[in-house]
Amino acid sequence: MAKVAIIGAGFAGHTAALYLGDALGKNHDITMINLHEHFHYIPSWVWVAVGRMPVEQTRFPLRPVYDKKNIRLLYGAAKEVHPDEQYVLVERKSDGKEERVEYDYLLIATGPKLNYEATEGLGPKHNYTQSICTAPHAVASSEAYLAQVARMKNGQKSTFVIGTGHATSTCQGAAFEYITNLHKDMVRRGVRDMAELRWLSNEQAVGDFGVRGVHAKYKGGIVSSEDFIKAAFKEYGIKWDVQKAVYKVDEDTIYWENFEGEYGEMKYDFAMLIPQFKGIALNYIGKDGEDVSGKVVNASNFVIVDGIYGLPHDKMINKSTSWPELYQNPNYDNIFAAGIAFAPPGSISKPHVTPNGTTIVAAPPRTGMVSGIIGRIVAMNIIDLIKKGRMTHSERMTEMAAACIASMGDSLWDGSAATIMIYPVVPDFKRYPNEHGRDMFVTHMEMGLGGAWMKRMIHTTFMYKLQGKFGWKMIPE
Ligand SMILES: Cc1cc2nc3c(=O)[nH]c(=O)nc-3n(C[C@H](O)[C@H](O)[C@H](O)COP(=O)(O)OP(=O)(O)OC[C@H]3O[C@@H](n4cnc5c(N)ncnc54)[C@H](O)[C@@H]3O)c2cc1C
Repeated sequence: MAKVAIIGAGFAGHTAALYLGDALGKNHDITMINLHEHFHYIPSWVWVAVGRMPVEQTRFPLRPVYDKKNIRLLYGAAKEVHPDEQYVLVERKSDGKEERVEYDYLLIATGPKLNYEATEGLGPKHNYTQSICTAPHAVASSEAYLAQVARMKNGQKSTFVIGTGHATSTCQGAAFEYITNLHKDMVRRGVRDMAELRWLSNEQAVGDFGVRGVHAKYKGGIVSSEDFIKAAFKEYGIKWDVQKAVYKVDEDTIYWENFEGEYGEMKYDFAMLIPQFKGIALNYIGKDGEDVSGKVVNASNFVIVDGIYGLPHDKMINKSTSWPELYQNPNYDNIFAAGIAFAPPGSISKPHVTPNGTTIVAAPPRTGMVSGIIGRIVAMNIIDLIKKGRMTHSERMTEMAAACIASMGDSLWDGSAATIMIYPVVPDFKRYPNEHGRDMFVTHMEMGLGGAWMKRMIHTTFMYKLQGKFGWKMIPE
């Protein structure tokens, strides 16, 4: 009987668990170690944070799902991984005691550490800026936003700054959804004329989203995501500032450095800025008690896998094989990583170094869809290894498609959404020798009410799929 341990029940780990439980649950030992007893459907936190959806609607309990799939849920925090002795040390939430979980195969899918500390004053701890990156933060954002609405109803103007809070933040798509949902909600509440809405980000250009922007055929020509998103900002009266790295915030001011190395500031009444993401820090301990983290993770705590690391950006981005295909650690071949936890070989967007030496770049997003796909690939390979002794699945981000539907208001009557279909996620300049490195037939952008319906439908279908209900496998990641 093989033992499989997974750390983290997010899009990557939970998707993997469903496949593993389905194929192996009855005959093998599968353990999910997770900090929460619920699965959280993170994309809908944007609606929570404008007070349009109760947070309860964005989660479901994991235990009944795992009972059905013969997976053990260990509710607790993984603290140490012992790769030589093949066990994870977990602090159980139930009684605070430690438990050893032994494994033959380990999947690390711990998602991001929200590194607020990298930006002075950033994040809910200081009570200056908001976040939508955890469920409690999304609820707190909604309360802070509704307090601003009350102020505006009393005749006071408010400035809202939404975007990124560090030189190397990622997840601009979520911030974009939030600013457009704020706009729509303010219109609905009759206070939009009292608000100034500002986009502030580390992207090279509006619409970069950490994927180098998108170019697609549209109405007989080529349209860029820059023009596409700028048009939305213009329509909604949102001002934008890009090429800016936020390095400090205080109670009413955001401080930034731009591409030219100039420093400036921006006043705010309400700000939601996405922090830098790092990997979750676990202790990796060898058989003699020595620190072996250098064999498992990089300096940012992302798990090293089968990518090619350390190439200059220009070389890396022109070499599709620098992106991993198996998500397998080169030093411990029974350790895999999926989702935000794996170390990408670099950024997709081109990094910019300011005259002061600050690197500003939108880090590569590993979205829910990408994380789910990687979770499935890893699960299928672990199943292969247990059943056949060899792996048969692989998929690089240079071969992966992703759909991004950014809602711009949740209403099914007057809502809208920017729908961006992108293939491949990481440009492949050899297979697609146009200047964007993408398949111009598949890559596509649309804006309109249809997207709002699709976004709502995706919430419902994913909440269904991820509970492993009848036919779940037919709904793609
Ligand atoms: C507001 C918002 C909106 C978004 N919208 C979209 C969208 O519309 N579409 C899209 O594709 N993507 C979207 N994303 C991105 C998407 O949510 C992430 O890409 C995705 O969640 C990453 O999945 P993951 O499994 O790697 O990590 P997570 O989903 O973060 O899961 C990690 C899990 O590991 C657990 N964990 C961490 N450390 C430990 C430990 N030591 N022990 C045990 N468990 C641990 C965590 O509790 C968590 O359950 C959005 C993100 C945000 C913040």
